[in-house]
Amino acid sequence: MKVVSAVKVGNMKDPDPGRRGKVAVLDRPCPPLGDEDIKVKVAYCAICGSDPHVVGGIFGWEPPFGLGHEISGVVAELGPKATRRGFKVGDRVGGNFRRYCGTCYYCRNGQEQFCENVSEEPGMAEYLIWHESQLVKLPDDVSLKKGCLLEPVSIGVRVMDKTGMLIGRRVAVSGAGPIGLINLQLIKMFGATSLTMIEPNPQRRELARKFGADFLIDPSSQDVEREGMGITGGLGYDLVIEASGAPKAAEAAIKVMANAGRLLYMAMYPNDYEMPLNLYAHCYKKEIEITGSFVAPYAFPRAAQIMSRMDLDDFTDTVYDIDDPEGAFEAHLGGRHSKVIIRCNKDLD
Ligand SMILES: [Zn+2]
Ligand SMILES: [Zn+2]
Repeated sequence: MKVVSAVKVGNMKDPDPGRRGKVAVLDRPCPPLGDEDIKVKVAYCAICGSDPHVVGGIFGWEPPFGLGHEISGVVAELGPKATRRGFKVGDRVGGNFRRYCGTCYYCRNGQEQFCENVSEEPGMAEYLIWHESQLVKLPDDVSLKKGCLLEPVSIGVRVMDKTGMLIGRRVAVSGAGPIGLINLQLIKMFGATSLTMIEPNPQRRELARKFGADFLIDPSSQDVEREGMGITGGLGYDLVIEASGAPKAAEAAIKVMANAGRLLYMAMYPNDYEMPLNLYAHCYKKEIEITGSFVAPYAFPRAAQIMSRMDLDDFTDTVYDIDDPEGAFEAHLGGRHSKVIIRCNKDLD
């Protein structure tokens, strides 16, 4: 079967990630179907902002390896004991690419994201084999094309779990990539006020306006601190969700915080970046809470339920065939599309 994979082009220690690896389609055997596993014929797999970093070697994996975790598809085959969730052949599904053991300390402590025995099977392929616990049925009114956004929506649901949100709080989102825009839509549902998107790309700012941002800040031409403080009447934001992953944006976010506000760094930052932080000013005097968010524990069933109420059309209009992953990744990195999706099987729609 076809598997979109990261392959090595040069030295994996090259300082330029673009010269370390690239994407290619490899012909690989489908992994074996375990007793409790389900084989899914993949319809769509969206490119995540993290995928090019993975190709560039951020996790230190040795290529070649398969890519992709934002998938939708149709149940093709069930293992003999994959019967506890009621799935049947033909069901439309999305799911969590991370398989948790359910047995370790963290899985038993309500913290499956730290599972000590986690495994991941990539999904940018014609088929994937996942444990039945990883799959979620898509609602009838969510198409397979939108369904591949279940994972990014789950990330948003998890971020909402960490906001401590109360109705009426002043909120800014930094970064209008797909995850930032999903966060924006979700936090709007919580009754956010002074809802501000901080984003340099004008097209993405427009999407933020469409999805309900009350204010827009362009950090490439405006002073984020002055604008943000102006919008909030000098108080600052009770909640800032930093979703861009850019060090400059990470540093700007802390300057617009309200007293006792919460700052959520939820993006994938460069793994060698260290941010300067004035503990006296921000943590002692202002009591700011700083936290983060890693993957999407316990969020997928709720993401499936909320998806139909979200505006996801703008994320599904750029589709590439599985045979052209290089074109798809180029389009993704070009930044002109809000999301790039790969069609993994032509006969599924
Ligand atoms: Zn992702
Ligand atoms: Zn575990």
